[in-house]
Amino acid sequence: MKSIISYEGNKLILPKIQCNCGINHTYPDMDIYIGQGLIHNIGKYLQARNLGKNIVLVTDNIIYDIAAKSVITILEQAGYHVDLCLLERENQLIPNETALGEVLITLNNSTDFLVGVGSGSITDLTRYAAHLSGKPFVVIGTAPSMDGYTSVVAPLTYGNLKVNKPAGYPQILVCDLDIFRRAPYKMLLSGFGDVIGKYIAKADWILGNIVNDEPICPMCIEMTTWAVQRCMDNISGIKKRSIEGVRGLIEGLIIAGITILIVGHTRPVASNEHSMAHYWEMMKLLAGEKPPRHGLSVGSATIYALKFFELFFQTDLTKVSIEQAKKANISKEEREELILAKYGSKIGRAIIRDNGDDYLTWSEQERRFNKLVANQDLIRRKLSFLPSASEMISIYAELDYPWPAEKLGIDDQLLLNSLLYAKEYRSRYTVFKSANEIGILPDLVGQVLQQL
Ligand SMILES: [Zn+2]
Ligand SMILES: [Zn+2]
Repeated sequence: MKSIISYEGNKLILPKIQCNCGINHTYPDMDIYIGQGLIHNIGKYLQARNLGKNIVLVTDNIIYDIAAKSVITILEQAGYHVDLCLLERENQLIPNETALGEVLITLNNSTDFLVGVGSGSITDLTRYAAHLSGKPFVVIGTAPSMDGYTSVVAPLTYGNLKVNKPAGYPQILVCDLDIFRRAPYKMLLSGFGDVIGKYIAKADWILGNIVNDEPICPMCIEMTTWAVQRCMDNISGIKKRSIEGVRGLIEGLIIAGITILIVGHTRPVASNEHSMAHYWEMMKLLAGEKPPRHGLSVGSATIYALKFFELFFQTDLTKVSIEQAKKANISKEEREELILAKYGSKIGRAIIRDNGDDYLTWSEQERRFNKLVANQDLIRRKLSFLPSASEMISIYAELDYPWPAEKLGIDDQLLLNSLLYAKEYRSRYTVFKSANEIGILPDLVGQVLQQL
């Protein structure tokens, strides 16, 4: 596989954007450093960006001992003033309104920029606080656990609802591989799961392009394809936590994450596998239980989605009757009732507010039906890059990845509901919507659960 990235010392050189797809592209103006022993160079990296001297540093009590404490010493020795926002939690830190409040209240008039030391939740809280205060921010990553380091969207939690807040990207990202390789193995697997989910995101995006003429960016497709392959070529390195293995994983996550920045939304990297993961997380939070780690959920949901695609491809759509599709056409009111029943009233109302137009007139549904039937061979061909569920299951077994979903504490009912209703979480087009709109969703979901 030809690499699309290179290095100048420890600085990552990103691929040049040469794309005329028509989607407005942003080019990342960001210094990304990947290598060993990098935290000792932080002062030098900051100087190169001239961000000021007064820092609010955001971290949690676990990361404080592992990395943040040393980072603070290094920063102070380099002449920076650090106000610490230590998010102390007995259990897992949830990036919610309380945590965000703690970060915001630590900011003051003299704050020049923010530094997040941590992984997903810390980065997202820092990102959003920086966005709200109009200040730049820097991330010192501590684990290759998700693709959000270079994203411009902050997935936060508000009253147990997952909300995706638009925000900015860090000016500097430091990935010290000595720290990354010491992260808990579950966090490495979480990063792996988040990357593997890109198979589904890519397939659904191409499907949306075929069925609904949705704009698609070939450059982003190339980047996510590279990211997935980089991780798939690196299974044993990830398992051994070798420097090369961890490097491959974080490169995959960064390149995938940058596509979000390039097109300004998460279409290249997230589809129904992410909606399923969010559904699990929200329902767990609602029940007062600990939600599984984001990337682990995404990777687990990806297997179900791969199986779903297989069964969808095996279905001869010319044999599906238009009457069956018509029966699946529900009114706006019926759809809203369904969402409130399956998501609970608070989360349900927010979903209806955010994508209330996501119901179809019969004429639009009929158009999609005909388009799917007429293009079924093309769809199978274009999506033939998808691995089979069983291939992925054996890779998961090799990595000791927690699968099936039960291993993440997802019971049968929650799994079933997520397969049937996670598609409502976003208006984004997915194969689950295709199946629903032609009236075969419950049947395929039943087969997925029977066969896995
Ligand atoms: Zn993700
Ligand atoms: Zn493009």
